[in-house]
Amino acid sequence: IKKKQTLGFQAEVKPVLQLMIHSLYSNKEIFLRELISNASDALDKLRFELINNKFISTDNSDLEIIITFDKDNRTINISDNGIGMNRNDIITNLGTIAKSGTQEFFSKLSGDQKKDASLIGQFGVGFYSAFIVAKKIIVKSRHVNSPITEGVLWESEGSGNFTIETINKTNRGTDITLYLRSKEEEYLSSWKLKSIIRKYSDHISFPIKMYKETWDEEKKETVISNNEFEVINQASALWARGKSEITDEQYIEFYKHISHDFEKPLIYTHNHVEGRNEYIQLLYIPSRAPYDLWDRNKRNGIKLYVKRVFIMDDAEQLLPTYLRFVKGVIDSNNLPLNVSREILQESRDVKVIREGSTKRILNILEDLSTSNDKEKIIKYANFWKEFGQVIKEGIGEDNNNKERISKLLRFASTNNDSDIQNVSLMDYIKRMKEGQNKIYYITGENYKSVKNSPHLEIFQKKSIEVLLLTDRVDEWMLSFIPKFENKELVSIAKGNLDLGNLENESDKKQQKETETKFQNLIEEMKKILSEKAKDVRVTYRLTDSPACLVVDENEPSGNMIRMLKAAGQ
Ligand code: ADP
Ligand code: MG
Repeated sequence: IKKKQTLGFQAEVKPVLQLMIHSLYSNKEIFLRELISNASDALDKLRFELINNKFISTDNSDLEIIITFDKDNRTINISDNGIGMNRNDIITNLGTIAKSGTQEFFSKLSGDQKKDASLIGQFGVGFYSAFIVAKKIIVKSRHVNSPITEGVLWESEGSGNFTIETINKTNRGTDITLYLRSKEEEYLSSWKLKSIIRKYSDHISFPIKMYKETWDEEKKETVISNNEFEVINQASALWARGKSEITDEQYIEFYKHISHDFEKPLIYTHNHVEGRNEYIQLLYIPSRAPYDLWDRNKRNGIKLYVKRVFIMDDAEQLLPTYLRFVKGVIDSNNLPLNVSREILQESRDVKVIREGSTKRILNILEDLSTSNDKEKIIKYANFWKEFGQVIKEGIGEDNNNKERISKLLRFASTNNDSDIQNVSLMDYIKRMKEGQNKIYYITGENYKSVKNSPHLEIFQKKSIEVLLLTDRVDEWMLSFIPKFENKELVSIAKGNLDLGNLENESDKKQQKETETKFQNLIEEMKKILSEKAKDVRVTYRLTDSPACLVVDENEPSGNMIRMLKAAGQ
């Protein structure tokens, strides 16, 4: 095992590297953010292990990240005394793209650099971004549970393969050395490195240290100490700070750190909740849906901390499934430090936190959706486009908040000329005709088919608005909201359409006359269609089309039947 071994990268690593270098070149300084972010994760994991696994014997040296550079050798070094990696860890973590969803990611690559560049942002850039500035990277690491003789040295030029060998490593954790490409010497400056650290990594809760610089009065120049360090960042958990002490930029950088998203969040909410159940919540809604949004089993992106100590990623108990796109941190003062997923499931404290966090998210969405502020209107439209279909799941999933969620819903409607979903049930009610006491909708597979449905004819004639519902979840969702603000929601494609007071007496009289006139024809048609149709009726729904199909009130609609069939039922 001691011998040096050469291994190939997983096939996908190479295209990702290429794409990364191409698409992030103009923003290449983020490599440092990514490496610091990994170091911080490694320190979090170590601290967690120290609490939960009493067998680990390790020195109690302070958890920290140290950054140095060497002008002569053109290297930058990033060290942490975190959990470290053993041989297997290093092979899987740095030789493959171990993230879940990698396959979907690759299936979405189009070959169009521009489009793919935004995908890579969503996917998170990570360790490989260091190859944008480095022609060679050496990683030395030792896992906290490995003996000194079982350190690992990983080396690669980022092309086809990497080498790996066993080394002695006295200090626990990971040291990463970047050998800079030519033209990247700007990073060999403490001023430059410090400014990048302050810009992107100030929120990291562990100290990030560099050698101290002092002014030498005699030589009239700054000298860099070779034994004394200074802390560059604030080194306190960002979410624990007061809101007024945090800038928008810091909130955004923190989001990128925890979410691995490359884009800004759409909006966030930060609260210190006091009382019997004390906790801090810092929750973000991303600007864009992740490619795996439809995976309901995907755990959501909430990191759980207890009294500033990291406990776990993806604590799915802390928010309902329909809010699985929310990212953030929840830091509880009440939960025990050794809390497990099983305990979370039962905990009353967690229930309180989940309800509180759900409220917060609904609050910010309500605020966006009811505002007259231009920026907020755009944000809500963007939100609905990305996450509207998932919010609809909440109608069935979260009975306590059904009322509030139904006000957030947006639909396409005959009031618009496009398929944009921007009509709320409230908007609809405000536009209802005199005598109208129902909310009319039609469901179907796509906008075009519902928009051209013959069922709409009578509504067009009478200028009555109809909501056009074409999302997969719509029918399921509608079964949970029979009424909104006391107005019944009615499908115009079902049963005997009762337009109630919207019909005047002469309409009704004319209908009766027509029915009598066509009685014989109807009887004849019933006989001919006896195998295919349950009933044949004269209709006054249509103005141009000769006939249309309807389903009985209590039966699933045509669209629902198609869906059930597609689902193999
Ligand atoms: P991500 O951080 O999104 O998981 P990265 O590409 O940044 O993806 O890192 C890949 C993996 O390599 C990490 O998940 C972690 O397991 C491992 N890793 C990277 N840097 C370190 C480090 N400094 N200490 C321990 N493990 C690390
Ligand atoms: Mg990372």
